Amino acid sequence: MKNIIIFVCLAFCAIFHFSCANSPKNAKADRYVVVLSLDGFRSDYPEMAHTPTLDSLARVGVRADFRPCFPSVTFSNHYAMATGLHPDHHGLINNYFYAEDLDKIYTIGNREAVSNPDFYGGEPIWNTAERQGVKAANFYWVGSETPVNGRQPSIWKPFASSVSFRNRADSVLAWLRLPLEERPRLLMWYIEEPDAIGHSATPDSSATIRMVEELDQLLNYFFTEARQLDIFDRIDFMVLSDHGMGTYYPENYVNLNDYLPRDSFDYVFDGVPTLLYTKESYRETAYEILQHVPNIEVYKKEEIPAKYHYGTHPRISNLVVIPKIGTYVQFRANSSPRLGGAHGYDNYVPTMQAIFYAAGPSFKSGERLPAIANVNLYLLICKLLDLQPAPNDGTEEEVAGLLK
Ligand SMILES: [Zn+2]
Repeated sequence: MKNIIIFVCLAFCAIFHFSCANSPKNAKADRYVVVLSLDGFRSDYPEMAHTPTLDSLARVGVRADFRPCFPSVTFSNHYAMATGLHPDHHGLINNYFYAEDLDKIYTIGNREAVSNPDFYGGEPIWNTAERQGVKAANFYWVGSETPVNGRQPSIWKPFASSVSFRNRADSVLAWLRLPLEERPRLLMWYIEEPDAIGHSATPDSSATIRMVEELDQLLNYFFTEARQLDIFDRIDFMVLSDHGMGTYYPENYVNLNDYLPRDSFDYVFDGVPTLLYTKESYRETAYEILQHVPNIEVYKKEEIPAKYHYGTHPRISNLVVIPKIGTYVQFRANSSPRLGGAHGYDNYVPTMQAIFYAAGPSFKSGERLPAIANVNLYLLICKLLDLQPAPNDGTEEEVAGLLK
């Protein structure tokens, strides 16, 4: 294994150094960007597991904690990264919500909702690219399965968890080998682990660590193959995640059904966070009661702290319950407290932080940088591919800090 680490490291160092010394003036016109999202990969997993490939990436590129948006859930954050907008601005305000503007419910398991473009605001990066003549390919990123503003990436796939991770890696490699005129220059792909195992086995379990190590081996395969490409030295690679994972405990469990009458709410989406759409006449009463429930914080929509950038979108419920870390919340007639893993909490707490690794001709080398907000991904890709960005919530300074 040690030989592989050195091999991968030398390969990156040697090739990137060569590329640096020989960059053509119009370098960005033939630059490629490959972004992989590993769902629920917590920022400290590499310290808990044996991850030689990620460690190599950090040595030749940059590593930082990646701060999710609130709520720290999958769909809201993948689409925030894609558009550079906070969920409050792009409209996918949770994995589950009621959209007053459409009079429709969004849930991530509902095909019809997920493929309805009306839910998706802003301009995803693949549309920005395609609109400006840069071909994009996408393997499962949230939002890529639907024509936002009538557009989709040139290559995209309907989500199917049965497609192996290795198969996805091979597809991305195959796209990079396409003839020049067909070859995408923005490639994004997605893997739904270690999120699933983190939920079921908790982030502290040996099963989660094993999965993290398997994913690192997949990355080793991917980069070993990628370096055979004659365009390898023109590819900026990123490996990142959408949020972390926290353990919750049965003794902290809250069932809102013990405190509130269900028929006083038009819609309830429980979990982390819990969105409560109260009947207007009941809001004040519910708010008073919820303030005395242990292990949670409750906010009126218009009083949510500014750090969350959350509360202006019409789809957000008039009361929002944010469980404290270690707590799971439900609103069920029958429920059973248990141990598990969850995310969706305060996006600033350490266990919610995600990973960001980047290596390639554009990135600084060997630097561990301060945490960056994940809404910067959109602007970053625009810089890498020389695209004119749509309005977004990224900041030039944070993006510039990653680049040479
Ligand atoms: Zn996720």
